[in-house]
Amino acid sequence: MTVTVESTWLICPGCADLVFRPKYERAQRVCPGCGHHARLTARERLDGLLDLGSHKPVETALAADDPLGFTDTRPYRERLAAAREATGMREAALCASGTIESHPVVVACLDFSFVGGSLGSGVGELVTVAAEKALSERVPLLIVTASGGARMQEGALSLMQMAKCSQALAKLDEAGILTIALITDPTYGGVAASFATLPDVLIAEPGAHLGFAGPRVIAQTIRQELPAGFQTAEFLLARGLIDAVVPRPALRRTLARLLAAARPDAPTMGEEAAAQGEWLVRDPAALPRRAAWDAVRLAREAARPTALDYAGMILEDFIELRGDRAGKDCPAVVGGIGRLRGRGVMLIGHQKGHDTAERVRRNFGMPTPAGYRKAMRLMRLAAKLGLPVVTLVDTPGAYPGIEAEEEGQAWAIAESQRLMSGLPVPVVTVITGEGGSGGALALAVSDRVLALSNAVYSVISPEGCAAILWKDAAAAPQAAEALRLSAPELLRQGIVDAVITEPGDGAHTAPARTAELIQTAVRRACDDLAALPPAELVERRRRRFRSYGSPSSEETRWPITAT
Ligand SMILES: [Zn+2]
Repeated sequence: MTVTVESTWLICPGCADLVFRPKYERAQRVCPGCGHHARLTARERLDGLLDLGSHKPVETALAADDPLGFTDTRPYRERLAAAREATGMREAALCASGTIESHPVVVACLDFSFVGGSLGSGVGELVTVAAEKALSERVPLLIVTASGGARMQEGALSLMQMAKCSQALAKLDEAGILTIALITDPTYGGVAASFATLPDVLIAEPGAHLGFAGPRVIAQTIRQELPAGFQTAEFLLARGLIDAVVPRPALRRTLARLLAAARPDAPTMGEEAAAQGEWLVRDPAALPRRAAWDAVRLAREAARPTALDYAGMILEDFIELRGDRAGKDCPAVVGGIGRLRGRGVMLIGHQKGHDTAERVRRNFGMPTPAGYRKAMRLMRLAAKLGLPVVTLVDTPGAYPGIEAEEEGQAWAIAESQRLMSGLPVPVVTVITGEGGSGGALALAVSDRVLALSNAVYSVISPEGCAAILWKDAAAAPQAAEALRLSAPELLRQGIVDAVITEPGDGAHTAPARTAELIQTAVRRACDDLAALPPAELVERRRRRFRSYGSPSSEETRWPITAT
């Protein structure tokens, strides 16, 4: 047998190097040199994503071809016939139900090789039928996109498919069913402006382009050079418009983790060693006395575990979800979905970082409005899916900067509190470090508020308080004492419900053990709260915050005693 050079080697469209074809095909057409992701057909895509043998086609009758009798340089009927001949498909979408690592899913997959994956009546019908199947079977919907946009040959009927698919997704939102878009290169126009961007979680392949107007149209209209990487997955991720960029070989695993975490079912927690013991303290007198200023310094210790450290230690299969979907991703707030001893939860926290570079990049854990807007997006998703919300608070405060003010810092903090007060799911907060003012409270309007024993929670930083009231920042230790911001004092005031005693010389000396205690306390709180009907949960949460400073609630609080 003779093998020609052309058939065993090909030129990578990304780096123009010669690539060994069998290896390339085995890698699902990802270049081993530059990582370029070449296009796949819908059939190849379904085969690559679904468990072997699980695939069942979802088919439906389609309307008659060519509703307008359209002809450009060639009759539309001829174009359709040629596309069908070339691809073996009836339309530019293929739908199936199946499983990904045993998790059921309905998939609608577009194919760019069929008339540019364009959105006509047939594609709109197939995507809608897939969504309806997901709804009737209460199974998550995955949409894989690849499209140049609307199908012009079907005129306004093509445009209407955007609304048809968008409302099919709205029904899945109303029914609490997870939707995911996998964005592949390219995804533009009517598909981008409907079912590619509406799903709960947006994952894109590296280098995939996603946008409303194509780059040529934009360049011609504005007559400006477009920035490097414009409309690529990486560009969009940095601007908070998608959740993650995932290389093709990792897609199945990532999707399986998402599908697993989004399931509301929750096996009860087994009894574990940490469940008993004196580490969870409700009596302030049982906590050691220490100067408030020492607590402030410990709460700020750079080596204390961060929200992402805890996410990795207390959750199985944590997947970070990013962006406010409105143009920004604030690195000082992180969040994502994972399983807390089997129970799916949404975890959201302030993120400081350990070394100087990360602390600078994370703005020292001081969120911008985009951070709170990301948090709110994730809380709404948790509410949709029926997942408890767990927040980890550690911030000096919301970012006091020009941009943050221009973007509505006060508005964002206010909206977050209002949203949290009405979430129909359990909300549990752990103050893990600094609970700095409104920037902390915006993530802490919760059913249960726990604090680590070296955490602090305060209306203002001791330095700020000292500068204003003492006219001397050096009076910070006195201000810290007067503000009663340490864990025992917060317990006395009823601001926190229980204090988790940090092992060793503090959380930074025993991060894994600290995480284990948080995991146990939070899981137990979630289990208790999940037993309540949503309306009662909300009612009790509102009663809690109604009681602060209310004359009728004084007798139910511990008296604030002099130290
Ligand atoms: Zn390459």
